[in-house]
Amino acid sequence: MFFNTDLCNNERIFAVLNNGNSTQLGEIMGTHGKSLLVESNGEMGMLVVISGPSGSGKTSLRRGLCKIDPQRFVFSLSATTRKPRGTEATGHDYDFITLEEFHARKSLGYFLEWAEVYGNYYGTPLAETRKQVADGKIVLLDIDTVGHKTIRDQTNPIIRGRTISIFVTPPEPVMKILEDRIRRRATINGGSINEEDLRRRLAEAEAELARQGEFDHVLISDKMEKATTDAFQLINQGLVRIQQDEDFKDMYSHPSGTLHQPFAII
Ligand code: 5GP
Repeated sequence: MFFNTDLCNNERIFAVLNNGNSTQLGEIMGTHGKSLLVESNGEMGMLVVISGPSGSGKTSLRRGLCKIDPQRFVFSLSATTRKPRGTEATGHDYDFITLEEFHARKSLGYFLEWAEVYGNYYGTPLAETRKQVADGKIVLLDIDTVGHKTIRDQTNPIIRGRTISIFVTPPEPVMKILEDRIRRRATINGGSINEEDLRRRLAEAEAELARQGEFDHVLISDKMEKATTDAFQLINQGLVRIQQDEDFKDMYSHPSGTLHQPFAII
């Protein structure tokens, strides 16, 4: 099965093409360039935005989800200008790049979304994320509330229609728990806390918490195991809803139907 194709209308096939630096939607003619078609395993992919203040438990949540079903869940590797912490490494935690490289990529349209968070830049790679969705993966995006808003504002139907968002927050007393968690995380493996960074993260936590109403779901990360199972359920419900929406659209997408669109641009 090919992702994002439309065979009802004049047998045209559209696919995501990679031309080196960037990807774009292109039309495949006959057998020419067939190897460039993005193949899907037939399962429906989706994006799950996971946001929440620093220390809310987003990283544990995404790791827990990937453990439940490592074949289906993938984590989108962001690029960042932040310096690696402790054992963090490029390709594993982030794509650690320089500020110059970040701006160069940004101007090339490399990012699906990007934001400045706690004084550093972070961005989600567009092509890789689209490929993962096309491959039927459930792509977990651990991004801030600004990045969430950017994704919500996308006009692209695949991104818009196939995204659910979860805001993660600890139980009360929220700020105290966040501070404890950030301190613990920083001092694990013999590291030390940077008080200025801590203050900045706590100050921004207030702003992030104020935006939780923009999300589809709010998840309290009290016991991580329970939070992970709850998130898993929310994601499955989201998948069912998205499938129903797409089935509904399909009913009207026959060439004779009034809502037919020649192809979906992603
Ligand atoms: P940290 O420095 O603790 O790894 O991440 C700081 C914040 O940046 C977290 O809230 C995280 O969700 C956010 N973040 C990480 N990657 C991205 C990204 O690609 N885009 C956006 N908008 N935020 C990100």
